[in-house]
Amino acid sequence: MYQISRSIYRELEAEIIEGREWGSGPTNHQRVLVACEAAVERLTTDRHYFARPSRTLFNDIRTYFPMSAQVHVYQVVDRYMTFAGRYLATRPSAVLELTGRRQDCRATTRKGTPCQRVPLPSNGYCPSHQHLAETDEVPVAA
Ligand SMILES: [Zn+2]
Repeated sequence: MYQISRSIYRELEAEIIEGREWGSGPTNHQRVLVACEAAVERLTTDRHYFARPSRTLFNDIRTYFPMSAQVHVYQVVDRYMTFAGRYLATRPSAVLELTGRRQDCRATTRKGTPCQRVPLPSNGYCPSHQHLAETDEVPVAA
């Protein structure tokens, strides 16, 4: 999965504008790579609360590219982020394998404690809490 952020970066790196007028600090290439890694990591660990991953990553990195490259940048970002999202949604064990952490059901039990059953990858709720997925509104990304 972390190959994905590298792949996005590699497809785009030739088009990154590298102005060094800011002096020291990370280069634009480094900033783009870090943004790609952060977006893919967030998609992996927090997918159900990450409303518009392609748009979010694009907005994070678009200033490092010339106007003429914007469409291409969005297409590359969207292709990989969509692929990554589908991958995670269709492989129940993928998140555990990638993060070493088990994802719990998103629901809260009647006792007010987090439900700890294993969720379905498609919506993040366990089989007993599927009814919550139907009325679920995707929260606006913070
Ligand atoms: Zn549950």
